[in-house]
Parts: sequence; C-alpha cells; structure tokens
Amino acid sequence: MESQLFTTILSFLGKKHVCNSCLGRQFGNLLTGLSNADRGSALKIFLTMEWEIQHRQAKAGLTEISSLISKDFTVGELSVQRYFPDIESNILPCQICQDFLSIPFLESLAKEARDLASEYEFSTFLVGSIFPPNVIDNEDIIRSSFNLEYGESIKSDFNRELGKILSKLLPEATVEFKAPDLVFTFNLIHNEIDIKSNPLFILGRYKKLERGIPQSKWFCRKCRGVGCNHCNFTGKMYQESVEEYTTTPFFEAAKGISSKFHGSGREDIDARMLGTGRPFVIEISEPKIRNLNFSQIAKQISENSKAKVEVTIDGLTNRTKVREIKTRSSRNAKAYRAVISLDKSLPDDLSFLETVANELTDILIQQRTPLRVAHRRADKIRIRKVSSFKVEEVTKNEITVYIICEGGLYVKELISGDQGRTQPSFSEKLGIPALVRELDVIEVFKSTDPI
Ligand SMILES: [Zn+2]
Ligand SMILES: [Zn+2]
Repeated sequence: MESQLFTTILSFLGKKHVCNSCLGRQFGNLLTGLSNADRGSALKIFLTMEWEIQHRQAKAGLTEISSLISKDFTVGELSVQRYFPDIESNILPCQICQDFLSIPFLESLAKEARDLASEYEFSTFLVGSIFPPNVIDNEDIIRSSFNLEYGESIKSDFNRELGKILSKLLPEATVEFKAPDLVFTFNLIHNEIDIKSNPLFILGRYKKLERGIPQSKWFCRKCRGVGCNHCNFTGKMYQESVEEYTTTPFFEAAKGISSKFHGSGREDIDARMLGTGRPFVIEISEPKIRNLNFSQIAKQISENSKAKVEVTIDGLTNRTKVREIKTRSSRNAKAYRAVISLDKSLPDDLSFLETVANELTDILIQQRTPLRVAHRRADKIRIRKVSSFKVEEVTKNEITVYIICEGGLYVKELISGDQGRTQPSFSEKLGIPALVRELDVIEVFKSTDPI
C-alpha cells in the first residue's frame, strides 16, 4: 500500500514550517480522541524517524529535517543536535497560526480571561474568537494547494483548546454551547478579550393590591422622560409602576446594566391584580451576580412598595419563556370581579338578573377597539369568549359580578357596551346604562381553559 498521507505531508512540510497543532489540524477529521497537537506530533515523530533512516544512509541532510522542527517539537531539535551538534537553533514561528495556537500563548490568554471574569458569577461559559483574515485565508490557500481535505477550521481548534485550558483554571464552570452564562471573545486582531454576560431571566407572578398603579413605567407624554412642568420634572406620568417596583431590586442585586419587564398581559391602571398573581419575566442584561436571594428580593419589593406590589418568584428561566408569556399565555383565561354602577335604580323584582347573567355565559363577545384606547391601538374587531358570568351582590344602584373569560377581553366594555362597539353587553341586556366602578383581576389561569 502506497502511503497517500505520507506523500501529502512530505510535499506540504517541504514548503511550510508549521506547529504541531497546525499540522495535526489538517487531518483533524481523521481519528477521534486526539488533540490536533498530538496528531501533529505523531506525524512529526514518524517523519523524523524516516529522516533519521535516510540520514544514516546518507540520503538526507539538514534541509530535509529543518521544516519539522518547531518550538513545540523538541524531539526534532534533539534529533538534529545528535547529528549536527554545532548547529545553532533558529526556530521560526508557525507559518499558519503565527503561534496563536502555542500552549504558552493560550495559557497567557486563559489567565487573563480568568482574571477579567473574576467580577462575574457564572457556572457555564463559551469561547469565541476573531482571527486576522489573512490567517484564515492563508490556511485556505495552503489547503487547496496541497489537497488537504481532512482539516477542521483554525477557529474551532483555537476555541476548543483555549476552552480546555480555561476549564482547568475555572474548576467551578463548564463549557456550554447553547446558553452559556459568559461568552469570552478573543480578538486576535486587536489583542483584546471581550466578556459578554448573557441575560438573566427570572420568572414570577405579581399581585397589585392597590389601584392607580400602571404595570409599566410610563414616560411623560410631553417631555418623553426628560422632565418638564407637566410631569413635575419626574419624566413620568405616574410616580410608581409594577415594573419599577419589581425590576429595581433584581437589577441592583444582579448588578446588571439594564432591565426589562415582560408581563403576561396587563390589567388596567385602576384594576387590582389579586389571587395568585399575574406571570411575568424580568430580564437583566449583563448581570454580574446570578445567584440571587429570591425570598429577600420578594421581601424588598413588598417593603419598597409599602405592600402595594407583592411577588412570588418561581426561579430562573430563558428567553423562550418571554415569548411564551407575551403571546400564547396572554390569552389564558382570567377571572374578574367588577362592581358596576347603574344609571337607574333597579326594580324590586330582580329575577330578570339571572336571565341576563345566563345570556352572558358561554358566549362569544365581539369588541371593536374601545374608545378609551383607540388613540393608541388600531381599530379592529376582537372576539373573546365569556365562559361564566355570575351576579354576586345587588343593591339599588350597584351590582357586583364575577366573570371568567378568555384573556384579552375588554371587561369594562363588556359591561358598558362602549356605545355599541362591544356586543352583546351587560348594559344592553339589562336595559340600563352601566359602568364598571371597581375592577379586580381575581385569577390568571394557566391555560385558555379556565378549569
Ligand atoms: Zn500553528
Ligand atoms: Zn414631562
């Protein structure tokens, strides 16, 4: 069997001076369980033996061996010295990687990265790199001119080997490809190490125990957050919000650079959010701390808001959950209690109330975008289901009802009819103009089906 590998390597090494890793990498897809440096070293050992045989037979001289000698191949240097003791050692840098793959260089980068990461709390990481384009191009050219078809890329070689060294320096952390806490990017063009801390996602539920608090921080309409007479130089329409009460303690504890609040739908400013609360995800960008004391933060939220906002924290989650709670689960069923003011007193015989309630049970409601939000939302028809409508309390001018409906139903308009834009409505069925005076969200169910 004529050795195809042998011929290829000989012609390649006759022209290029490379380190063990760069030689081994050209055959990186052959055999498994070996580092490229070990592959390269094995090939060089074999070739050096071959050279020694030929040298003893006086068929090969110093020129034939010189390209085998590299900083990481002492066998070559020692073997040459055996026959040429007076030769001065002059080892060139690798012509492919420019010694970016040499172990001492990788070790120095790994140490620097470890020191830079010391201010972060993390348990997983990933290594990435930016190579000078000429290094990549050069390797491509060499591969095509020497028909080297079993190679892997220099970047994945570098990232993996550096990752191995870094893992030893960071025994508490492991390499993770999908969602690492930290990403190290080694920029070999500018000789810089960049650390990116991936966001932290915290899943929880909030209760809003007092009316008049918006869910999101609401910038002043006039100055858009800058501060003006209209907003008393606060930049805000409302001085408090669920978003600010809940995100601030997380943001401070995690030492992030910014935060976002993602709620699963929202209640009106004047509605309370009771029961077990409304799901939310808080996203903290570039966190330095990841092990947060949830019960302490929950306590802090309650204290800062004077018990107007309370949270239950389920734990850490991921970006997929954000999409899920913002889209799919915002249609999850909700239970409401509404205190309704009537424009006229009720008659003495209240038996017709039961008929009205029955007519609004298990029914689809058509709602044009309510007048009160029409300035910021497109005029559309929304269809949502009411699965239960029960009268709980009745006085002369007020009725308290308990409603279970699909998420996204405009409850105030279900009661008032919104000048005919919502059909059918409680007002219409009752024959008396009616308005919601107080509204509470009693429960946010886990699915679109309230049971
Ligand atoms: Zn190299
Ligand atoms: Zn303002």
